[in-house]
Amino acid sequence: MLVGVLALQGDWREHKVTLESLGAEVLPVKTKEDLERVSGLVIPGGESTTISNLAKSFGLFPHLREFARSKPVLGTCAGLIMLSNEVEGAAPGQEFVGGLDVKVSRNAYGGQTHSFEAEVSFGAEKERVAFIRAPRILAVGSAEVIAKLGDEPVAVRQGKLLGATFHPEITGGTLLHKLFLESIH
Ligand code: GLN
Repeated sequence: MLVGVLALQGDWREHKVTLESLGAEVLPVKTKEDLERVSGLVIPGGESTTISNLAKSFGLFPHLREFARSKPVLGTCAGLIMLSNEVEGAAPGQEFVGGLDVKVSRNAYGGQTHSFEAEVSFGAEKERVAFIRAPRILAVGSAEVIAKLGDEPVAVRQGKLLGATFHPEITGGTLLHKLFLESIH
């Protein structure tokens, strides 16, 4: 099984390392042809405006949208923003893949100096993760909340799509990657 990590910008290498540590074979995805080869895709954290601009100039949006309609996609931080149906604070003209019925607010905790690590709960399981210029999930429509920070939703699932406001791959978190890989099998 070959899985992809969208490698336009952001910390795609860390996701590749995490997925490989779980036994997956990983392809950095930069083109439509790369996308056609993979059974699932991770959209990493980074800067959603840059990821969006690059995806637009490489003509990837129609292919990413088509992929997300039928195959597993995990989006973390900027990747969650890319997968959200509604984005507060989007840059003018910024395009998204969509598919997750959530409303997110970009940079909702403040800037880089307000970045932090925290323990989030996946039901009874806890994991230490990093929030880096993270978005907040303001509203959850038909998506299912799968992780919380206190009372706040920080990860959601809808069909084969998974999204989280945080970076698990920086602190050695694997729970989301495991859910992602399980949904491919
Ligand atoms: N603030 C970034 C954005 O809006 C996301 C930050 C991240 O992915 N760590 O795209």
